[in-house]
Amino acid sequence: MRYTIIAISLLFGFFSCQQNNTKKQIHQTVNKTDSIAVKQLFDTALSNGQCYQWLDVLSNDIGGRLSGSPQAQQAVEWGEKLMNDLGFDKVWLQPVMVPHWVRGEKEEAYFTVNNTKYNVPICALGGSIATPENGISGEVIEVKSLEEAESMGEKLRGKIVFFNRPFDDTLLLTFRAYGGCVDQRGSGARVTGKFGVLGAIVRSMTHSIDDYPHTGAMGYRDIPENEKVPTAAISTRAANLLSEQLKENPNLKFYFKQSCKTLPDAPSFNVIGELTGSKYPDKFITIGGHLDSWDLGDGAHDDGAGIVQSIEVLRLFKLNNIKPRHTLRAVLFMNEENGLRGGRKYAEEAKKNNENHIAALESDSGGFTPRGFTFDADSTYLELIMSWKNLLSPYGLHDFSKGGGGADIGPLKSDTISLFGYRPDTQRYFDYHHAATDTFDKVNKRELELGAASMTSLIYLIDSYLD
Ligand SMILES: [Zn+2]
Repeated sequence: MRYTIIAISLLFGFFSCQQNNTKKQIHQTVNKTDSIAVKQLFDTALSNGQCYQWLDVLSNDIGGRLSGSPQAQQAVEWGEKLMNDLGFDKVWLQPVMVPHWVRGEKEEAYFTVNNTKYNVPICALGGSIATPENGISGEVIEVKSLEEAESMGEKLRGKIVFFNRPFDDTLLLTFRAYGGCVDQRGSGARVTGKFGVLGAIVRSMTHSIDDYPHTGAMGYRDIPENEKVPTAAISTRAANLLSEQLKENPNLKFYFKQSCKTLPDAPSFNVIGELTGSKYPDKFITIGGHLDSWDLGDGAHDDGAGIVQSIEVLRLFKLNNIKPRHTLRAVLFMNEENGLRGGRKYAEEAKKNNENHIAALESDSGGFTPRGFTFDADSTYLELIMSWKNLLSPYGLHDFSKGGGGADIGPLKSDTISLFGYRPDTQRYFDYHHAATDTFDKVNKRELELGAASMTSLIYLIDSYLD
């Protein structure tokens, strides 16, 4: 998940039925058949699940799959073959051009105080330019916000600006802590380049105090070439140490070197698999995650989990011989992390082909224990969705909140589509997010399968009750 799309969540419980009489009334509520079906879906997901084994292949055999990389192409071929092997009614590749940024040599950084050298774990931010070949060395100015940096203006000239506002640990919704800090990563270099800084370094976007730098997208937007400066993330422990040392030694010198670059856009694909609807073949329900990942880890949580869960949803329908009324699509979106080109392309094609999309569900918050769903739906559906909450809460799905569905399905938004986001527990998500620690061993098989079952149950209800 790139920037925080999660709108501030409002607990859904206080909504009473306030539908306007002129609006379409929804009278259906869940029945006994539904509770039997949901139980069956959970039983099969937990006793006969496949998604964990698929994630093993995607994470360990293919690995990190940055847009435009050979691994991203391997992941495309893997997804297409898997969905064909599963016997989905239709499987195809949707071409999309993606940004192609490469990290280059392993980055290096250190600072020296009184002849003591402190090595700093560092990684270039996605989209950044390189440093000169011999790196950059300069004094450091620490700031806590973009506004503070801008207020310093010319004082920054010739210096390395260091953005060091930490996560707010008191926020229970960890995506809000991320959202409260990530502007430093995304825009730190862009807003300080005009003051002649040598470069911008940023504290990693995580609660965890450790030695792993966390990468992620940054953007220069349309600033002039001569204002573009290299930018990188340093580990939280190094950020704390640097901040401490700066208090005693404000003139210490920081050095970093990186050789990343942006190549011309590369051809790639969204991978789409379909089960044709029995009653409404021309009405679509999309279930998806993003197939690309950052390159430091193997992208198991972000977002390999969402990919294998989305495919598992369709497999569980088939396995349980449930014929969907609407056409179900598992969509493996390309390039969420550094461009969102796949999500945009999918919506663009849907519009061009006059496709009627009634709902979409995205899983891009990690493969942890299920907690619930966010939704962005027409108010006439509120009572109906509330009745699903009663059915699903025995499975640990208690949190039904208003909020966005996710970055990749966002471009599908219209007056008629209902967007849903799968929300697992996220307390550990930012320990691994965009870091070398996002690896397969951090994913628990049962938690991943419970997530797939939760998503399948929600899709079963959407398919049964939404038209
Ligand atoms: Zn993601």
